[in-house]
Amino acid sequence: MQTIETYNFKNKKALVRVDFNVPLDEKLNVTDDNRIKAAIPTLKKILNDGGSVIIMSHLGRPKNVPEDKFSLKHIVTSLSRLLGVEVKFSSDCVGAATKALSDALKPGEVLLLENLRFHAEETKGSESFAKELASLGDVYVNDAFGTAHRAHASTTIVAQFFPHDKLFGYCMATELTSISNLFTNPKRPLTAILGGAKVSGKIAIIENLLDKVDNLIIGGGMAYTFVKAKGGNVGSSLVENDKIETALNVIEAAKKKDVKLYIPTDTAIADAFSNEANKKFCAINDIPAGWMGLDIGPETEKEFARVIESSGSILWNGPMGVFEMSNFEHGTKVVADAIVNATAKGAYSLVGGGDSVAAINKYNLADKVSYVSTGGGAMLEYIEGKELPGVKAIQQDVEKIVK
Ligand code: AMP
Repeated sequence: MQTIETYNFKNKKALVRVDFNVPLDEKLNVTDDNRIKAAIPTLKKILNDGGSVIIMSHLGRPKNVPEDKFSLKHIVTSLSRLLGVEVKFSSDCVGAATKALSDALKPGEVLLLENLRFHAEETKGSESFAKELASLGDVYVNDAFGTAHRAHASTTIVAQFFPHDKLFGYCMATELTSISNLFTNPKRPLTAILGGAKVSGKIAIIENLLDKVDNLIIGGGMAYTFVKAKGGNVGSSLVENDKIETALNVIEAAKKKDVKLYIPTDTAIADAFSNEANKKFCAINDIPAGWMGLDIGPETEKEFARVIESSGSILWNGPMGVFEMSNFEHGTKVVADAIVNATAKGAYSLVGGGDSVAAINKYNLADKVSYVSTGGGAMLEYIEGKELPGVKAIQQDVEKIVK
């Protein structure tokens, strides 16, 4: 398969899907340019080879019509500065004017297209819209892992119009290899730490992980459903009563598959869902009525840290408690520190999924773990074992994808 590294872009117009869905402040200035920075290696490779670049992205959630606050023109300055090239802008992503701009593009030049989601056809995965996008370039590069689980026009459908010239950008390739590294011949023991609010959002991942991991640590809001399933009193903690049976099935399956399942034994409880609430610690299966568990307790912290620090490979998704509240962030911080310690001792650690990424950034530990995945939903679906349409579209055999 061709790769971004081996492909020669000389005199080619590269149509590159990136994820420039960056936050803007009220004055429409970019407040966090990490996603733009992430795309720079791919864009520079194309330019250095002597190619030109046509960039497409979405920004925010416009309602299928142009809205100034979601215009990608607001990021032209940041992109030009980071790339060291003056970026041209097309006020639409399709149409005659856009086509003329891309036709006129010379090697070394960069054209940024307006927000793809100003057209409903993008998220609908319209073939004719994808064909119009495809007409702008000679080669298609997908560097947007965060949208790879969506079969949108620019992430998936467009690839079929490039039977021989379609590839992953550096970002996308790194995401895919970092995740598969964890499961292909991992250094053992392999430990997955799952937290966050609900069992329902994570059940498919749990089931898939049970075939792969040696240790499965469950924390966060979802732990209380497991505790209740085992007959514990969880007071007013977050519980999904319709997932009690699921939790019991997981406990059974873990036993059968010889996976060590770690559920918290103690918890920090509060008499209201508030940082100002009264707080105390108790056994997790003995929470008094009117109190709710908002974090793991000290005994659990110790046990989780012990398991994590003796792991060879680690996957972390989801906080151990309501880490947004300073009184209930301790467990999450302890887990983050344990992952950092394990990594320093040679373990491979992957942190992914929105809130664990937010947590690792909050504690300034992102550069002390092996890899932080940027694609929340896409990463989870990949770990669930699902085929991501954006990945399949590039990997699929030429014959199958050309209609
Ligand atoms: P998720 O998006 O499923 O990963 O959930 C993340 C959210 O779960 C965070 O906003 C946490 O505040 C929340 N959370 C973690 N532990 C608890 C808990 N014990 N009770 C309620 N919410 C929790």
